[in-house]
Amino acid sequence: HTPARYHLADKEMMHTIYTPRPPFAHKGTFGHALLIAGSHGKMGAAVLSAKACLRAGAGLLTCHVPGCGYDIMQISEPAAMTVTDEVQDHSAHFHEQADARYKTIGIGPGLGTTAATARSFEKLLSTYKRPMVIDADALNILSVYPSLLYQVPAGSILTPHPKEFERLFGPSANDFERLELLSKQAVRLQLYILLKGRYTAIACPDGAVYFNATGNPGMATGGSGDVLTGILTGLLAQDYAPKAAVLLGTWLHGYAGDLAAAQLSQEAMTAGDIVAFMGAAFRECF
Ligand code: AMP
Ligand code: MG
Repeated sequence: HTPARYHLADKEMMHTIYTPRPPFAHKGTFGHALLIAGSHGKMGAAVLSAKACLRAGAGLLTCHVPGCGYDIMQISEPAAMTVTDEVQDHSAHFHEQADARYKTIGIGPGLGTTAATARSFEKLLSTYKRPMVIDADALNILSVYPSLLYQVPAGSILTPHPKEFERLFGPSANDFERLELLSKQAVRLQLYILLKGRYTAIACPDGAVYFNATGNPGMATGGSGDVLTGILTGLLAQDYAPKAAVLLGTWLHGYAGDLAAAQLSQEAMTAGDIVAFMGAAFRECF
């Protein structure tokens, strides 16, 4: 028989997923995340993602950025540690950072797609085996080298918007076909794949697809997706299982966006405001 495949991710579900912090916790309890992001002219994506990762509750965050982004990251987010490439360049060379001490890795926002960056990503995938969050230019690298998709650790989370999805998996005739393709690829690759949009569809390795209804057109603004990547990375760092992280993170991101729009208007809100309303969104999950 075929089990029901489509579900709605609602606030009730978030109450069951959300886990309060144990009183005797310390920062080691909530994991050390590594964010690999940024390039010349796109350091804002890395900064937004880093801020969101910390606001989602990561215990420690190290950001790996190109040399040109060192000061920018250090000044923009004092709570994050920053490391740079050995090669001083405007694009990312990060193979020396593929390190098992990191609980999880978020990769892609503002990263760029140079050959050196693609080689570094390939090396990372050959050495790092825990679930990670893959977004933006890291997805674009996977589209150019599709065989790398098979190296992505099982349980990892891919967060394409419709264009990135099409680059990865090809075109679909309509939304229904695209949903089928989404679910099929999540099962085949044993990955969580979020197809972002008004109703983000979250496809799971077991064939289930969840729809998230939070969020609004105020989030149709540069940097919104980078914030989502940071949130998901921060939840994985804290030991939320990938499925819990993906459902809770997507809901929180949209709800924080709804609170930002209520306060500021859809027009005036920016991606940084989604980060600013993360606290109020979290409180709805208690
Ligand atoms: P990106 O295109 O990578 O910046 O990601 C945009 C983010 O904003 C995704 O998480 C989308 O789900 C969200 N978003 C964009 N437009 C809307 C919309 N009209 N309604 C709800 N969420 C949206
Ligand atoms: Mg994006």
